[in-house]
Amino acid sequence: MFHRQVGELLGDGLEALADVIETGVPHARSLDFTAMPTTPQPLTHEWVGFEEPDGTTWLFDATFLLSSWTCIFGNGCKGVLTADATELGQGCCSYGAHFADKADRKTVADAAKRLTADVWQFAAETKSDGGPITRNADGDWVTRQIDDACCFLNRPGFPGGAGCALHSAALAACERPMDWKPDVCWQLPLRLISETDQNGHVTNTLREWKRRDWGEGGDDFHWWCTETHEAFVGSRLVYQELRDEIVELVGDTAYQWFVDYATNRQRRGLRPHPAVQSAVQPVPAPTRRRSTTS
Ligand code: SF4
Repeated sequence: MFHRQVGELLGDGLEALADVIETGVPHARSLDFTAMPTTPQPLTHEWVGFEEPDGTTWLFDATFLLSSWTCIFGNGCKGVLTADATELGQGCCSYGAHFADKADRKTVADAAKRLTADVWQFAAETKSDGGPITRNADGDWVTRQIDDACCFLNRPGFPGGAGCALHSAALAACERPMDWKPDVCWQLPLRLISETDQNGHVTNTLREWKRRDWGEGGDDFHWWCTETHEAFVGSRLVYQELRDEIVELVGDTAYQWFVDYATNRQRRGLRPHPAVQSAVQPVPAPTRRRSTTS
């Protein structure tokens, strides 16, 4: 059922050249994805979409999902401060996490109760300060900060291990870190945006978390992992590596559709992610033109 509709959406069916939307390249059907260009090219993303029976549109950032991005926390991640902060080992935990809703807060509050001091460096300080969940100056619910980073972040040298205490404890309990951590923490670097137009039509877009998604502060980051080649060193493709996270965001049906698409798409060869392209070719002047869905 879905394949038939996908074929309608793509025009030529799954085996044919997909109808893609590329930022900066409005009509990309004739692009040769198998060869690296010898002259500067726009640093593009390939998008693919399908429609569900109820009319809901799904759009996927195929370039990112078919890339080798991987989280390099503790393996070269430079952090999200205004200067290279590799040695601090904070990853993107420098500002704490914003909670999505009450259920998100409850997940973390319950998980925090399962942490012991041998796996959570700041257990005592956090409890004496009022607990791991608090409101910031803007009134938003966030994780508390201790020593200029998230209270759950164990620092380098902590005997229980550096990194997110929630993440480590979840793995030790043979459970999924996403069931212990704030939503934003397990979703990064994925970003799902749902938009409803004036006619009630819903479009869900799954793409990479971009610097701009951090808000105004993102412009000041010294480094961001989805736009630099250092993090594109994974041994598996993103849609495989982050299967559980993607399914949690889009559901089994949409994920399986993308898997079917990706399997066929890889046979034609993939153009590298712009972060990788920019590492091997001159970068043309950026345009401000953007997809209307991202
Ligand atoms: S998601 Fe990116 S910024 Fe955050 S720890 Fe991983 S590599 Fe670093």
